[in-house]
Amino acid sequence: MTGGRVGKSASTARYAGSGFRLRVQRRRTAVTLAEAVSRTVIVVALFSVTATAIQLVSVADEIAIGRQAQAEVRTQTPELGDAAVQAHVARVGRRLAAHARGARYPYSFSVANYREINAFALPGGPVWVNRGALEAARNEAQLAGILAHEIAHVSQRHAAEQLSNAMVTTLGLNFLGALLGNSGGATAASIAARYVASGAFLKFSRDNEREADRVGAGIMERAGWDPHGMIELMQTMREQERRDPSSVEQFFSNHPSPQDRVALLTRLVPRTRIGTRDSAAFQSIRARLKKLPPAKTMAR
Ligand SMILES: [Zn+2]
Repeated sequence: MTGGRVGKSASTARYAGSGFRLRVQRRRTAVTLAEAVSRTVIVVALFSVTATAIQLVSVADEIAIGRQAQAEVRTQTPELGDAAVQAHVARVGRRLAAHARGARYPYSFSVANYREINAFALPGGPVWVNRGALEAARNEAQLAGILAHEIAHVSQRHAAEQLSNAMVTTLGLNFLGALLGNSGGATAASIAARYVASGAFLKFSRDNEREADRVGAGIMERAGWDPHGMIELMQTMREQERRDPSSVEQFFSNHPSPQDRVALLTRLVPRTRIGTRDSAAFQSIRARLKKLPPAKTMAR
């Protein structure tokens, strides 16, 4: 810092979206507005890295980004065209989502006609499950286990956390500034949505994954399904890995090893089996799936 204190003033900038209150030292004459904004953005970015990054993306931002990403994903994903299967998955999903804690997100449930065992959640509520996962699940509690894990990623705001990190490290400060309302929030949301839909985003941290298992098991229990379904599905996936490694490859690259997940869940879930394990409706959708033409293979 050079020169005296003459000509400087302190001003306080408040960002409605993030709730941060910052003091910005500003030279009244020499610093342009653009410089002041970008300097402020840097301060916000540093603050978010050292404190809690999740606050950069509001629930409303997440929902807006998720809606746009969902529109993008729909154009790229072959949706399973069987109304009965879709309806049952959505019924199980909605009952689970009603027992999720935190913000009320507009959850939706779609089935991709892919053979691989996989599922993912977009920010703010859209959940996708592959047909391969439905076929691998031997009872309804196992299906509920897959969906509850994805719902937990949404309710725990893991997308907001990852997106905030990406905004700071990858997408740059202009984007960050836009999301904070300095210029067109809608543009920022559509950039974020494209980024999310590209798949680059779908990797959560190992901590996020463990939390999704823990919180997901709680959601299952409250919604009335036996949380052992989640453990059983992981055991099924280990068997599947021996039989058909390519069908679980992607899932295993994005998640902790099933051994670790089984160990964590076995500690959490009560030994006694409580809650629904299966339903006639679930077995009838499994029978329907067997009669449909084979599922597609996901592009690598
Ligand atoms: Zn996950």
